[in-house]
Amino acid sequence: MTVTRFAPSPTGFLHPGHAYSALFAYDAAKDGAFLLRIEDIDPVRCKPEFASAIIEDLRWLGLRWPEPVRVQSQHMEDYAAALDILRGRGLLYPCFCTRRDIERDAANAAAAPHAEDGNFIYPGTCRHLSASERAEKLAQHGAANWRLDIAAAMKQTGALSWHDRAKGQIAAQPDLFGDVVLARKDVPASYHLCVTMDDHLQGVTLVTRGEDLFASTHIHRLLQALLDYETPDYHHHALQTDPSGRRYAKRDKSVTLQTLRAEGKTPEEIRREIGY
Ligand code: GLU
Repeated sequence: MTVTRFAPSPTGFLHPGHAYSALFAYDAAKDGAFLLRIEDIDPVRCKPEFASAIIEDLRWLGLRWPEPVRVQSQHMEDYAAALDILRGRGLLYPCFCTRRDIERDAANAAAAPHAEDGNFIYPGTCRHLSASERAEKLAQHGAANWRLDIAAAMKQTGALSWHDRAKGQIAAQPDLFGDVVLARKDVPASYHLCVTMDDHLQGVTLVTRGEDLFASTHIHRLLQALLDYETPDYHHHALQTDPSGRRYAKRDKSVTLQTLRAEGKTPEEIRREIGY
């Protein structure tokens, strides 16, 4: 049985690109189950009113899903348990670098920002701290970002791959982003960790999402291997553009489903315009 999900972050209102992504997952689960998950681990960027608006928009579009909806902020202890496993295997280390430290050290190492997310690849500064330096800094700072030691992790798992329905068999390259942060000082879990764990816990068999998240799957595949999870199938779909050819994006203040609805558009019209 196919199990898919739509997993929006309630950081704004849905736009037609989200509607496409939700309908894509819904359609792919015709013979199975479609789940909704609210990815709200970042308390600064996520707002309950956006979560309510997302649910209302999706219902208005005609989508239905089983209750209860998994809301990530209610499951922080699950993510903490996974972090403990990784920490226990010596795969996480605390990082005390500021953004400025990273930019300086990466520039000295002549590292370029990663093309996908624009962040510099972490030059590994805190990976080299001794146990006593770590303990001392932890006591001094009170908290840290926890990074995954990608090289050590890859050594434990060996070569990995996953299957994408659009692109075929993909060899995993988890080192593309360097040592990613799995738990932040202010948010004690990361997108990569929560999404991988939840897809596992919810029995998702097919992860559908936009192509902008394709590269993240390299890291998710590594986490699956480390945490002994099965690997779902993937289908990263093309990102949708508005009638003027611009990609729908929250930060560009794309037209929202709420605005279109207020202007009198029907769900059928929106579905037709985005190909559903
Ligand atoms: N929460 C993520 C977002 O809104 C999507 C997660 C996923 O589909 O893997 O961008």
